[in-house]
Amino acid sequence: MKIVVIKNKFLLPVFIITICVLSFGIYHFSYLYMNVLPTSSFEENTFQDKITNLIYQKDKIAYLTFDDGPTLKSTAKILDILSEENVKATFFVIGKHVKEHPELVKRAYDEGHYIANHGYSHNNDKLYASLDSFINEILSTDREIGKAIGIENYSSHVFRFPNGFMSPIYKSKKQEYVKHLSDIGYTYIDWNVLNKDSEKKYSHTELLNNLKTSSRNKGTLVILMHDTSDVNETHLVLKDSILYLKEQGYIFQNFYDLKGK
Ligand SMILES: [Zn+2]
Repeated sequence: MKIVVIKNKFLLPVFIITICVLSFGIYHFSYLYMNVLPTSSFEENTFQDKITNLIYQKDKIAYLTFDDGPTLKSTAKILDILSEENVKATFFVIGKHVKEHPELVKRAYDEGHYIANHGYSHNNDKLYASLDSFINEILSTDREIGKAIGIENYSSHVFRFPNGFMSPIYKSKKQEYVKHLSDIGYTYIDWNVLNKDSEKKYSHTELLNNLKTSSRNKGTLVILMHDTSDVNETHLVLKDSILYLKEQGYIFQNFYDLKGK
């Protein structure tokens, strides 16, 4: 009887240790397996999914996006402020403007900003004339970006529809053509915050207040601004906008951070 009791006393710890060793082994094997397996296509799909889901995330991360440039009036000033504040942003460039000012795109790229695609002409009649012209607007913009930054076969993989996908303008064409973005390795993104700088009617204080109102009670922010010459001067409120968001606990990222570059 005594012998049986002693055996049972040993059995329980041995059983627990065995379970622990087995669990650790399974966990360790899974960890190695998960970290060795990913291929480039797997990562690419993950990137597209992350872009699609970005505006629904809860983390306090701000993605500044500047549309419609580059322009002589605004882009360099914006780059100066981003550099001073150590913020990396994303530029949705227009192909024809890249052709006019490739040096500004090269500077933005060299300073770590993400160069994304906003179409070649920003002219909806041309963009939506046919599926071919839609695809061609994106690919020809990529070619201009590639020439500007010295990378052959450049693809930004991220498109923003002029006026946004959410706008009712050319809605049915957008719904039809959006299905073909994945054929060329693309996805699209709108925004969930804006300072309304394209409405050309707000003072600098109002632009900043628009940003505060629009970003209130949101997690991850994808912020629409413009680096153009025909809208309010966002570069004059950019520093204060960045400082406000930093005060609110935001960190800044761009789409490279989603690629794990
Ligand atoms: Zn635009």
